[in-house]
Amino acid sequence: MPMVTRDALSKVAKIIGGENAVKIIEVLSQNDEMTEEEIVAKTGIKINEARKILYKLYEHSIVGLRRTRDKDTGWFIFYWRVQMDQVEGFIISQKKRVLEKLENRLEYEKDHDFYYCHTPGCRRVTFEEATENLFRCPVCHKPLIHYDNSKIIAALSKKIERIKSELKNE
Ligand SMILES: [Zn+2]
Repeated sequence: MPMVTRDALSKVAKIIGGENAVKIIEVLSQNDEMTEEEIVAKTGIKINEARKILYKLYEHSIVGLRRTRDKDTGWFIFYWRVQMDQVEGFIISQKKRVLEKLENRLEYEKDHDFYYCHTPGCRRVTFEEATENLFRCPVCHKPLIHYDNSKIIAALSKKIERIKSELKNE
C-alpha cells in the first residue's frame, strides 16, 4: 500500500471537518499523540470546536483515542493520534462512491436519447419527456432538437477509467 501523502490527509480532514480539521490533523500528524489541551494550544481552535471535530474524525476512524485517568483529579485525559492506515481506507471508499455515481450517470447517458432547446438555463429532456411535450421545451416552448451526448459519455468514461486505475494501484 502506498504511503498516504500530506495532501491526501488534508483533503480527507477537510471533507470530514473543514479547515479546522485540517489544522488539527496537521499538528496531530507531527506528534505520536496529543491531549486536547495540547491541540488547542497549537492550533488556537476553541476547545469545544476542537472536541467536536476530533469526534467527527474519530467516527471515521481517522483518529484514534487512548484515555487514562489523572491520578490527582480523577478525570480522564484523552490522547489523540492520527490513524494513517484508516486514512487510506477512507480515501478508497470515497473513490468507490464516486465511481459508483459516475457509472450510474454513464449508464443513464447511454440508455437515454436527449432533446434540448439550446436555450441557456433550460435543461435537456429525455425522449419520453420530449414526446409528452410534443417536442417543445416545457420551459421556454422552443422546438426540441436531438442532443448529441457523445462528448459527455466520452468524458464520463475517461473519468471512470482514471478512478479504476487509481483503485487498482491502491
Ligand atoms: Zn427551453
